[in-house]
Amino acid sequence: MSTKDYDAIIVGGGHNGLVAAAYLARSGARTLVLEARPKTGGAATTEAPWPDAPDFKVTRLSYVMSLLPPTIINDLQLEKHGYKIFPMGPYYQAFPEGGSIKLYADDAQRNHDEVSRWSSKDADAMPRWDAWLAGLADVLGPLLLAVPPNLGSRQPRDLKQTLRLAWKNRGLNVRTIADVTRLMTMSIADLLDDWFESPQVKGALAVNGVIGTWAGPYEPGTAYVMAHHSIGDVGDGHLGNWGFQEGGMGAVADAIANAAREAGAEIRTGAKVGQILISDGKAQGVVLENGQQLTAKVVVTSLHPRTAFLDHVGRQNLPDSFVEDIEHWKTRSGVVKINLALAELPDFTADPGTNLAEHHTGSVEMAPTMPYIERAFTEAREGRPATRPFSDGVIPTAFDKTLCPDGYHIMSLFTQWVPSDWNEQPHAEELQAYADRMIDCYNEVAPNFKSSILHTDIVGPYEMEHDYGLVGGNIFHGELSLEQLFHMRPAPGFADYRTPVPGLYYASSATHGGGGVCGIPGMQAAQAAIADRRAALRGPVQAVRRARQR
Ligand SMILES: Cc1cc2nc3c(=O)[nH]c(=O)nc-3n(C[C@H](O)[C@H](O)[C@H](O)COP(=O)(O)OP(=O)(O)OC[C@H]3O[C@@H](n4cnc5c(N)ncnc54)[C@H](O)[C@@H]3O)c2cc1C
Repeated sequence: MSTKDYDAIIVGGGHNGLVAAAYLARSGARTLVLEARPKTGGAATTEAPWPDAPDFKVTRLSYVMSLLPPTIINDLQLEKHGYKIFPMGPYYQAFPEGGSIKLYADDAQRNHDEVSRWSSKDADAMPRWDAWLAGLADVLGPLLLAVPPNLGSRQPRDLKQTLRLAWKNRGLNVRTIADVTRLMTMSIADLLDDWFESPQVKGALAVNGVIGTWAGPYEPGTAYVMAHHSIGDVGDGHLGNWGFQEGGMGAVADAIANAAREAGAEIRTGAKVGQILISDGKAQGVVLENGQQLTAKVVVTSLHPRTAFLDHVGRQNLPDSFVEDIEHWKTRSGVVKINLALAELPDFTADPGTNLAEHHTGSVEMAPTMPYIERAFTEAREGRPATRPFSDGVIPTAFDKTLCPDGYHIMSLFTQWVPSDWNEQPHAEELQAYADRMIDCYNEVAPNFKSSILHTDIVGPYEMEHDYGLVGGNIFHGELSLEQLFHMRPAPGFADYRTPVPGLYYASSATHGGGGVCGIPGMQAAQAAIADRRAALRGPVQAVRRARQR
């Protein structure tokens, strides 16, 4: 047996790559992480984008936490390494025609009071809606942590896994299965129409159905996207427990990196991988873009599937059907992130004042109605950036004092949509005009908004793809559309974090459990690699990846 430089090499130091590294290092593997950018974290990154204002830091891409399971937090002792979450306040929408609404994740009485201002029928429906969602979270939460079975395979191991999943879900009844079916197949608009009547309430609840999605609220499947964003606290089954990490999302990645280092992993930044080494049909290591070759028996890649498989592994080393699946992978978003430094908090006409108030502490939305959101999508699908974009805004500095000097604030606007091909060109001037229109929308409901802006940072799909590796600008390495979920993520037959190449494991957000800053793909890929490594120590035959029936 040849001596390898490392036991395990992780390609990509985003949070999933770091989670994989931490678990592998803890299992005793000599582990190396290779990250192309000058810093780790990937889409979970805190940066200071304004050279003339270095004290202002923003979470440049992802901005709120919810899906990181307690298992990972505890296994990696992340709190010891700086993981600290401030729970978010309510959803808040101020309406251009006057008035506002707040929706609370965990306060039924206040929700009732708020919603009653718009519809007493909807206020009465709210507790039933929350209970309905909670019931679904009980089913979907644990499923996010399940390894999808290889459906259709007759291999004993795959059949066993399918039966195990069926057994785990034996408690489901006809009603629950019907509810899950509805959730998976309906549009968020149709689902909300079944429950509520007020356009204002429906607009507020629709936001989670279209976040990061190349689909308007009337598209089938958006009901599931809402559930994915509403589950929160995977494993505990709590709903909607979103929060801000102190120090921004980069601090989550730093906490995981610290845990990985403490377990013995080595992390190299500025180390761009150009190729995964394959010989005798197995992964043997990587070649960096500078030509350096590094070997390991286990390679875990956490990159977008097109980069990981088509660029780094190469079509010639993969089954044709797998290549075709990855070529067909849908990876659009039309998301633009706008980060702002503010001299003062927004002074809403509906809720006046620039002193910190509850409505500044959660999501400060610009999604007043379903038709408003739909119009933004329709324009982008027709090839134009939205005239009036929708935005999921947050002001983390309502809690977090580490991001900017005292008395100032950071506001982060997650906005949609621009055309899905804006990943191909920078579109700098059009993005500036789009951001100006977005700011005007907020200014209509908070007239001090525009004049309070000190600095603006706009990150469009081109930058997301070219600087962060998010191909197509999709925020999750691939759309959360029905045909790309569970046993289909990233490709049928390969949803168990293994790949067609023995020794190569897959830990990106394009696997089941991803996207989002949840670490599940990283943990699962590491566990698959650790299990195969242990099997290899017991006997070589068990270790070789079994032939797939496809
Ligand atoms: C604008 C935006 C907002 C979002 N908001 C949220 C949110 O609020 N909450 C949430 O939970 N999720 C959010 N997400 C999604 C979430 O951030 C991602 O799903 C998650 O961070 C992806 O993690 P990852 O480790 O799988 O991949 P990535 O973070 O993409 O990490 C991959 C890493 O690989 C590196 N890399 C690329 N090519 C190479 C190479 N050739 N060699 C070596 N390294 C390479 C990249 O630089 C990167 O660091 C958001 C994403 C975006 C873009």
